[in-house]
Amino acid sequence: MDRPDTIAYRGKGNIYLNITDRCSCSCTFCLAEFTSEVFGYDLTLHAEPDVEEIERAIELAFLEGQVDEVVFCGLGEPTMRLDDVLAVTEWLRLRRIPSRLVTNGHGELLNPDRDVAAELAAAGLEAATVSLIAADPATYDELCRPMFSKAHRAVIKFARRCVEEGVATTVTAVEQPGVDLADCEALARAMGAEFRARRLVTPPARAETTEGRTGGRIEGEDPRR
Ligand code: SF4
Repeated sequence: MDRPDTIAYRGKGNIYLNITDRCSCSCTFCLAEFTSEVFGYDLTLHAEPDVEEIERAIELAFLEGQVDEVVFCGLGEPTMRLDDVLAVTEWLRLRRIPSRLVTNGHGELLNPDRDVAAELAAAGLEAATVSLIAADPATYDELCRPMFSKAHRAVIKFARRCVEEGVATTVTAVEQPGVDLADCEALARAMGAEFRARRLVTPPARAETTEGRTGGRIEGEDPRR
């Protein structure tokens, strides 16, 4: 029998949730371009887990000890499954377990006509890590290749809305050619968010065999962003 999918995995004192491999970006530096392994776990999903499966996976992960927070991250964009993220966030809130969303900031592009930040805050989301990636739309589009136009503007708006809703918000950008980290930090500070720069590391095998793509990975606790 095949090994079951990894839905919840532990790392850096947290539990991370791997609930989808779908994403509205196709970043040049995306980890999924060259591996499905994070913290030693294979995050290949054969099917997206339902809410009950996610909650059961969290309970099992907690058997190995307490953690600081439960983080929606994995190898895809969690807000592709907004209603399920909300349900699990509420489930965590009722158990007084801190939750954080790692997101590309496309929540409102993916779920039009909804106030996603307000819904997340109401469900009990405590923190969000939003990938700004670049300070200007042209660089953002080049690096992230989003499926939406004007996505960079939407990312900024989403991060700002998270701040307004009282979600502890950290904006991140990646150290790589063409990215002005000082401008990214200024944008983050202007919206009242924290800022964190992330380092891009290019794996040698990928660098040798791949042309025209960054083929790197971002160093940090949430390796995809
Ligand atoms: S790095 Fe993040 S936002 Fe970019 S394609 Fe990968 S999962 Fe999507």
